[in-house]
Amino acid sequence: MVRLRGFAILFGTPVHVASGVGQLFLLTGLANTVTELGSGPAKARGENEVVIVGGSAAGLYTAARVAQGGCAVRVLESKPTLDPPQRTLIVTDHFRRQVNGAARASILNEIRRFELFTNGRSAVVSLERPDLIIERSRLIRALAREAGEAGAHFEYGTRFLGLAPKDRGLRVQVDRDGKHDELHAQSVVGADGATSRVARAAGWPAVETVPLVQALIQLPKDCPADTTRVWFVPDDTPYFYWLIPESSERAAFGVIGEQGRDTKRHFDRFLEKKGFEPLEWQGARIPVYRRWVSVERNLGGSKVYLVGDAAAQVKVSTIGGIVTGFRGARGVADAILRKGRGELRALRRELATHWLVRRALHHFHQDDYCRLVDMLNDSARESLGEINRDEATRLLWSLVRRQPRLALLGLRGLLLGRR
Ligand SMILES: Cc1cc2nc3c(=O)[nH]c(=O)nc-3n(C[C@H](O)[C@H](O)[C@H](O)COP(=O)(O)OP(=O)(O)OC[C@H]3O[C@@H](n4cnc5c(N)ncnc54)[C@H](O)[C@@H]3O)c2cc1C
Repeated sequence: MVRLRGFAILFGTPVHVASGVGQLFLLTGLANTVTELGSGPAKARGENEVVIVGGSAAGLYTAARVAQGGCAVRVLESKPTLDPPQRTLIVTDHFRRQVNGAARASILNEIRRFELFTNGRSAVVSLERPDLIIERSRLIRALAREAGEAGAHFEYGTRFLGLAPKDRGLRVQVDRDGKHDELHAQSVVGADGATSRVARAAGWPAVETVPLVQALIQLPKDCPADTTRVWFVPDDTPYFYWLIPESSERAAFGVIGEQGRDTKRHFDRFLEKKGFEPLEWQGARIPVYRRWVSVERNLGGSKVYLVGDAAAQVKVSTIGGIVTGFRGARGVADAILRKGRGELRALRRELATHWLVRRALHHFHQDDYCRLVDMLNDSARESLGEINRDEATRLLWSLVRRQPRLALLGLRGLLLGRR
């Protein structure tokens, strides 16, 4: 039995130990309706409303924070119901500090070790604070419940089409079941993912995306359930392949690439080489962070904001968007509630460090990866185990202090990129 904070996994079945509404939700909450979620305390609606487009991770996290701060919030989601597809994700333990008890029930497993492989070489990193494997559909349901309880109003089957300034506030055009309608908002938050229509409507340039493919497989017998494996194969992808166990039976095996068709071809070959049988497929395009996307625009005196994938708030070194998307969502909620910009400034520094690391790694050849793995001496591995990738700047300094040759290797990577 694996014991986790807040709940235990008994033979792969999560048993939540929270009480009250959260517990009731876990027992009955798989079939929420829009009406149920919108039935929180009444708030003045109409022109003073903050309209959030996108009812997924970043949008719901923003909705809960803004509604808890006392604003009227309306979430528009194009999907007909709250029925998010399942997706296995890995996050650092930073996630525990970001979410409440109910959302913590999305944690399926804990990861205590990383095994890194490249061309026959390997290194093991033991994590002081375990990484968490979470299930996205459970997380989204819990966040929707939290936002609903704070008073956010939900409209499913409502697609955002465009926006325009009006005398006071913004006019928001939507499509409901093929019928066009218009809403009024004080401000709009675009949480509508990598191909954000809000961003386009408000004049932001499109963000670049890369394909991510993931298959659920049976956990290989030689892989412990608390160990994530990462393979660097630069001939296939400048990113990496991963295997993340979600339980002692199942794991997610995935890759990030640059071109959709090549990525799938390499992925199929690698799956076959490893002898893994896909049970289920998951995939989508993920934004690539290249520079800070300013999260706020002024439209005729009213504000439009972006959060999550819509603002490319993704750690581009490892392509993780949950923790950083939540940080962006908190930052925007703070800005709307006039609580300062500290979180956004810190997130910007963090994303810039990940971009530096990605640039250093992106043009590595096989030899460079071999050198990198060889250079991970005991003290460098200690840094990787002590400090997680959501504190990238601190981690980078600590690594370079403990293994200065890594700085030279990184510099070589940056120069290779320039060429
Ligand atoms: C297979 C896979 C594995 C991943 N693994 C990890 C991982 O291990 N760790 C990690 O941290 N991250 C991971 N990610 C990335 C992470 O899932 C995303 O960064 C995160 O979910 C983005 O959330 P979001 O709310 O910003 O956007 P999205 O989840 O894309 O949500 C956008 C929402 O907006 C809605 N919408 C879109 N257009 C409109 C419109 N016009 N009107 C109304 N609604 C609209 C959509 O229906 C959707 O609900 C993974 C992604 C994928 C695809």
